[in-house]
Amino acid sequence: MFNVVILGSGCAGNTAAIYTARANLKPLVISGHEPGGQLSLTTLVENFPGFPEGIDGPVLVDRIKQQAQHFGAEYRDGSVLEADLSRRPFRLSVEGEWIETRTLIIATGASARWLGLDSEQKLIGKGVSSCATCDGFFFRDKHIMVAGGGDSAMEEALFLTRFGRDVALVHRRDQFRASRIMLDRARANPKIEFVTSTVIEEVHDVTKGLVTGVRLRNVASGETRDREVDGLFIAIGHIPNTRPFAGQIELDADGYIVSKGGARTSVTGVFHAGDVQDRTYRQAVTASGAGCMAAMEAERFLEAEGH
Ligand code: NAP
Repeated sequence: MFNVVILGSGCAGNTAAIYTARANLKPLVISGHEPGGQLSLTTLVENFPGFPEGIDGPVLVDRIKQQAQHFGAEYRDGSVLEADLSRRPFRLSVEGEWIETRTLIIATGASARWLGLDSEQKLIGKGVSSCATCDGFFFRDKHIMVAGGGDSAMEEALFLTRFGRDVALVHRRDQFRASRIMLDRARANPKIEFVTSTVIEEVHDVTKGLVTGVRLRNVASGETRDREVDGLFIAIGHIPNTRPFAGQIELDADGYIVSKGGARTSVTGVFHAGDVQDRTYRQAVTASGAGCMAAMEAERFLEAEGH
């Protein structure tokens, strides 16, 4: 029986592990299907406080993990496939093996939705990114492309105009999901070119190991053409990793955990941390902060219960 099981090993989960380990709760961290979370997909992180020269995303998240291990946190590979949160202790199936815990911290994150192209996947971190805040800075005076037609795409395109020589916004339809105000703002920006009814078919150049361009196809005419691009930002939404908890804790229409204040969820003893609940900030530092909050709440909860 564990006092605390933490699901997810990104900034949120690893920070929750530091705090619960230092509180002598002997946490178990289940690493999840994307160990290290979103940071493991980035390169240089320049906005995490304490690193004036920046630090590699995968290195940063691994160092937070090492810090947790130093205080006794245990890590296990794999993912939770099924959960029973209907009574305490909670029961979790980790790759088929059932474990029990008094409290649970869900820090399973939200995975960026990708186009699903082989070339896109191979060039993630080499010019393909899902985070303008993280990587925009690397494309000063370059040709930038953003894929998507929602608020995120507008926001990312607007933000990227600070860096890029130009920003092409590619959307698969000619109608937008984005709110009027965001769309108008993007349309009013002279650096942004709208390329509608168009899909990205291929990202060049896998053989060079960096983004040099894309092949576009107009879905109305079927016509294809190549276009030079240095940075490709995919902003087509995120998918919160909450499937095993559906129907057991309150989720919103998109599957994000609904916060009940602080780090509390609708189930007593289950806490949230990071992007699995936060669709607004999504930063390493805010996820770490949320991990700290969840850990402190779990600790207080256990103390009140006499453990
Ligand atoms: P979203 O609203 O779901 O929009 C996703 C966009 O990506 C849609 O335009 C969709 O095209 C496109 N898309 C999805 N799958 C695709 C694929 N496989 N290939 C090409 N295009 C694809 O997601 P979001 O923009 O991330 O926003 C999520 C939520 O956060 C929304 O509620 C949004 O309002 C909110 N948000 C708000 C702000 C803000 O107010 N500042 C900023 C960011 C996000 P279709 O339209 O054709 O489906």
